[in-house]
Amino acid sequence: MAKPKETEQAPRIVEGTSTPEDGSLDRSLRPQSFDEYVGQTKHKDNLRVFVQAARARGEPLDHLLLSGPPGLGKTTLAQILAREMGVELHVTNGPVIEHKGALAGLLTKLGPNDILFIDEIHRLNPAVEESLYPALEDFRIDVITGDGAFASAIQIPIQPFTLVGATTRTGLLTAPLFSRFGHILRLDLYPESDLALIVERSAKLLGLDIRPDASKEIAKRARGTPRIANRLLRRVRDFAEVLGKGVIDAHAVEDAAKRLDIDSVGFDEMDRRLLRVIIVDYDGGPVGIETLAAALGEPRDTIEDVYEPFLLQQGFLGRTPRGRVATRKAFDHLGIQMKERVMGGADEVPQRKLF
Ligand code: ADP
Repeated sequence: MAKPKETEQAPRIVEGTSTPEDGSLDRSLRPQSFDEYVGQTKHKDNLRVFVQAARARGEPLDHLLLSGPPGLGKTTLAQILAREMGVELHVTNGPVIEHKGALAGLLTKLGPNDILFIDEIHRLNPAVEESLYPALEDFRIDVITGDGAFASAIQIPIQPFTLVGATTRTGLLTAPLFSRFGHILRLDLYPESDLALIVERSAKLLGLDIRPDASKEIAKRARGTPRIANRLLRRVRDFAEVLGKGVIDAHAVEDAAKRLDIDSVGFDEMDRRLLRVIIVDYDGGPVGIETLAAALGEPRDTIEDVYEPFLLQQGFLGRTPRGRVATRKAFDHLGIQMKERVMGGADEVPQRKLF
């Protein structure tokens, strides 16, 4: 019998993807302006200039592609841009636009300079994507009427608008779509200092009594992701209210994290399993991504978009042309002794097999 996937039993806490439970919290904590949006300073500064220039000209912003793992603030940025531009934001999702007619319906509803936000834009159906090109370039929709020799194209003008596309990885976009974006912003995982500020801001909005050392402890376990930081804060609040004195201090965070099986660097059982598979079953790697996906019973995309970015950024995992390797840091974290082996981990010098 196939082993049920752990992710089907309970949603992961330390995952950036939004869950239905996050919905209202996301909305209530969402920054409303560039000033409230913590970190990503370089991108924010550039966007401020683009907004000012576009407003001065009375034109829409250039089409913008936002890339980065889930939960880093892509939707939030699109909302802030719309507010700063004084236009309306229309939100949709790539796979939801099923056919050209649905796209035409969305495009004809846009007001002048409005922003159309398409999440998961790499998952657009190819026919829909193709019919988006004339809209992006010339603000028009091409509609074909009639059949065969009687076919003719009608061009319907639409309002000038800005497409803000969001994707987990820019490499997933087709070249023609990618080339139609004027700006590409790659959002980075947030440093702990920014995440601590996000936790403090959220705690204030939720009216929580939180000590600075507690924000730091939450930030350490948030995997560089604001959505995870907010979710952890909410869980810690539950434990502190029910089991503690209501005050959130470092001890309350450590206690809650232990109960949730999240370790000191923000790993849950899934991260440890991933590293253990590489270390124990494949001798530290390299392991091909497909093999890893099969061993973990997870889709390749989930591994690449959700688990890996943090493990790579923090140096627990290395990527080589022959596959993923566990680094010495990963061995140390799991308390497993590193053996000498052929073409070892990313930080090892290749050597002759000794066993
Ligand atoms: P994405 O679209 O990249 O999945 P969202 O924009 O939905 O991410 O962000 C998830 C949540 O994280 C938001 O509701 C917001 O509360 C919080 N958040 C994201 N980025 C920031 C930031 N830079 N500053 C403060 N909070 C943020």
